[in-house]
Amino acid sequence: MAQQTPPAIKFDKVSRHFGDVKAVDEADLEIRDGEFFSMLGPSGSGKTTCLRMIAGFDRPTAGQIFLYGQDVSNLPPYDRDVNTVFQDYALFPHMSVSENIAYGLMVKKVARPERMKKVDEMLELVQLSGFGGRKPSQLSGGQRQRVALARALINHPKVLLLDEPLGALDLKLRQQMQVELKAIQKRVGITFIFVTHDQEEALTMSDRIALFNQGKIEQIGTPAEIYEHPKSAFVAGFVGTSNLVRGEVARRITGMDVTFSIRPEKIHLGNIKEKAPTDSYSSDGTIRDVVYLGLYTRYHVELDGGGDLVVVEQNLKSTSMDVLKNKGQRTRLHWNKEHISKMGA
Ligand code: ATP
Repeated sequence: MAQQTPPAIKFDKVSRHFGDVKAVDEADLEIRDGEFFSMLGPSGSGKTTCLRMIAGFDRPTAGQIFLYGQDVSNLPPYDRDVNTVFQDYALFPHMSVSENIAYGLMVKKVARPERMKKVDEMLELVQLSGFGGRKPSQLSGGQRQRVALARALINHPKVLLLDEPLGALDLKLRQQMQVELKAIQKRVGITFIFVTHDQEEALTMSDRIALFNQGKIEQIGTPAEIYEHPKSAFVAGFVGTSNLVRGEVARRITGMDVTFSIRPEKIHLGNIKEKAPTDSYSSDGTIRDVVYLGLYTRYHVELDGGGDLVVVEQNLKSTSMDVLKNKGQRTRLHWNKEHISKMGA
């Protein structure tokens, strides 16, 4: 019978309390071998504490952490086959790029020819061939980050931890590095655990995401699951923009006692004189505000029975003049019933 690979990381009711502060509280988690897994959440929600416990820089106050089936909860960092890339790169300024990358192999006393060969492979992997002789100060931010990545990967750890590694880069470079980082991860096949508070970044790069809120994991799922089927109001609000509809307004629209979320891009601004499709929910209202944003337009619609919804439409054919004329118009909003996510009130 084929043996199943144990999860790269497993948390069994892991807590880390600092006095009264529950930085991480009874977190259960399984990260699969070879996965690009992101820990996403607002500042202070417990992501870095989880990463530090996986690395061994911190210990749980309760619960257990397993690395490929082995309980590592109380092992020191150097006895765990994991490595970390930090936001501030932490490169050695007096060493060349090649020496920085080779550092882990030097410590392991790997012979020079072997070291040089591995360094060359790493330089190629992170697209820095020819930069080996430079000092970190002669590199751009993005290049430094790639050196840090190469240095962390050269020992081929089982798991690579990345703590907001792109946080210091400007938006364009950050987006470019997101694509590169994902490609590198696929090439090396190592499990990456990536901490970020940037929801777009997590959606772009991850196989799966764990969303943290005040030390608890609110939801774990693929980007599509998290975006399309948020399980709580917090998830719906944190990942992308969402309309949260509750109480009397929700009852009037659906005929049920529910709270639901609906994404603004799923709502159609229908003509008030036309019937909504049968498989949809609908609500009449007045367009109170129109914000032209180039790629798309955002509408704020006040519903007749109270409450309001945000709707976005792509500007496929319309110009700013066209869309601004919609202000004050009546509309029959409608959206496919399947596009709502029901949640606890
Ligand atoms: P950020 O995105 O800002 O890094 P985070 O989600 O990574 O936030 P953590 O750094 O894990 O959050 O912190 C979680 C909570 O634990 C915070 O309230 C923080 O103040 C608290 N905390 C973390 N380390 C300690 C410590 N050594 N002593 C006391 N409280 C701590």
